Amino acid sequence: MYVDTHLHLYEPWLSDEERITEADRQKIIADITQNEIVTWAQSCDIPSFEKTLKYSKQSEYIFPSFGILPWYAHEYADKLGEITTLCEEALMLGEIGLDEKYAPNKASVPHQRPLFQAFLEASEKHNLILNLHFRGGLEREGFEYLKSYDIKKAIFHSYSGSPDMIKEINDQGYYYSYGAANFEGRGNPRRERLTERLQLIPDDLLVLEIDVIQKSNFQVPSKVFSKMLRAVAEFRKTTPEDIEATNHKNVCRLVEDDPKLKSMEQLLRI
Ligand SMILES: [Zn+2]
Repeated sequence: MYVDTHLHLYEPWLSDEERITEADRQKIIADITQNEIVTWAQSCDIPSFEKTLKYSKQSEYIFPSFGILPWYAHEYADKLGEITTLCEEALMLGEIGLDEKYAPNKASVPHQRPLFQAFLEASEKHNLILNLHFRGGLEREGFEYLKSYDIKKAIFHSYSGSPDMIKEINDQGYYYSYGAANFEGRGNPRRERLTERLQLIPDDLLVLEIDVIQKSNFQVPSKVFSKMLRAVAEFRKTTPEDIEATNHKNVCRLVEDDPKLKSMEQLLRI
């Protein structure tokens, strides 16, 4: 069974030239339903969360996650109360984290930590799954925050931190998601570094993600996912079926005792 732990159905940071059309988005949603791909749809700000909520009503396989990407922290500096309310209602939290280096607007920098802490408080209180974006050397700081809040279900999305920290993250029982974006166009030094880390991740902490589908390389999720299984399997010297089963088993472990994700549990046939 295919399970995608990180997909954006709407990306606020893409230009109109890069962003998929509404017709293509409908193809994605139909493909998810037809192929029964349990999909965790990430959001980057409140408007993209509202869109994601709307799309999730079109398929029982789409589960919306509420998050504000650190890039937009300055836009929510005086709305932390609203964020906390939305967290209370959310099924999962993401995409959230810390990222000064790639933030297009540096005005976000002083507001990233208070925003991140609002999400961590909610996760600690309700044991919510977190999809985490730590970039540009802030992976260590992010990890220390998780430990200080007693976070149990964390996923480092495309973990880019030091390989030396992986042992500590493993000991904490946190997960790592890698996928399509890490394999396309290999040869790019950043991607090489990420796939190098993928070799160090233990089987019981690896989950898969598609992340972004753009206009230029449009393919429906079932196609992207099967291609990704082959790429990850080749890289980890095993079969696509084995990677698919590993991902499914790890997702089941993350979901199984979560009262908010009962309908997902049924689809996952736990
Ligand atoms: Zn993402």
